[in-house]
Amino acid sequence: MDRPYVLALHGGAGTIARPLSRDARDARQAELPYHAGLRAALSSGQAVLARGGSALDAVVAAVSALEDNPLFNAGHGAVFDADARHTLDAGVMDGSTLAAGAVAGTRRVRNPVLAARELLRDGGSVLLGAEGADRYAEARGLAMVEPGYFSTPQRLAQWRRLRAQAAGATALDHDAAALADDPVPLSPEAPRFGTVGAVALDRQGHLAAATSTGGMTNKAPGRIGDTPIVGAGVYANDASCAVSCTGSGEHFIRACLAHDIHARMRYLGQAVGAAAQGAMLQSLEPLGGRGGLVALGADGSLAMPFNSQGMYRAWVREGVPQATAVFE
Ligand code: ASP
Repeated sequence: MDRPYVLALHGGAGTIARPLSRDARDARQAELPYHAGLRAALSSGQAVLARGGSALDAVVAAVSALEDNPLFNAGHGAVFDADARHTLDAGVMDGSTLAAGAVAGTRRVRNPVLAARELLRDGGSVLLGAEGADRYAEARGLAMVEPGYFSTPQRLAQWRRLRAQAAGATALDHDAAALADDPVPLSPEAPRFGTVGAVALDRQGHLAAATSTGGMTNKAPGRIGDTPIVGAGVYANDASCAVSCTGSGEHFIRACLAHDIHARMRYLGQAVGAAAQGAMLQSLEPLGGRGGLVALGADGSLAMPFNSQGMYRAWVREGVPQATAVFE
């Protein structure tokens, strides 16, 4: 018998708190396009699930919609690295087969999540990097763009502002966005992460996860975060959960965070909420990691913990209206 589908997205975590110079009404206004973008992406994924499509197709549809939205740090609107260029990472995993595909450091693939999806389908290499990933995507007939396609004036302003404050600093996208708007000093206590991701459970009971990012503002050229690393920024297994992460990627890699949640469920018998909380508190935070995640259990339970001030997120369950949120 068909089960009700579930889909959840994130559009990054961090200090999404309004700069003090803005009043609360202005801040709510400023948030509206983010909610609209999340809803549009949610609808793309939901349409797949509602017609009986797979969780895998749903997360890819939702994430590619977010990649096309310049408000989020993935695809068009990706952040700049220290060379004022863009390199993009994406990963996708199918919980029913444990097949996975990922790309890192791409420069010309319009939708990196689609290249990850192609790799997953091929079943050969799991992770392709840089020029090889671009060439692979081109050979597969995916849409290719000039690198300038990813740039937006807002991201350039973020990058310039950050460099003016501290040339070697890296920042998470939403923090850098706050910097561009307001002359607040960059604070390591105030990171914001603009990566996007999705997790889904389809009517057949299968799970999938996808994550995509431009990485961190002013990151070292060649730096790769957790996003395309299976078990760190993305993971799905029908036996437990689907997870997509956002945050300080190095910490998520070192904590094997997405897989840590799976392991807690599988080996400790925890529910997804306890497993996600436990992984954040016991595995990520001791390393100094910041950010959040969306985790969806095989039973349809959702957990969306974050240790930052907010996390852009949206979710829908079959028969229940869509919801979006930024703060607790
Ligand atoms: N996790 C991403 C990275 O480290 C950044 C983010 O979530 O915004 O590349």
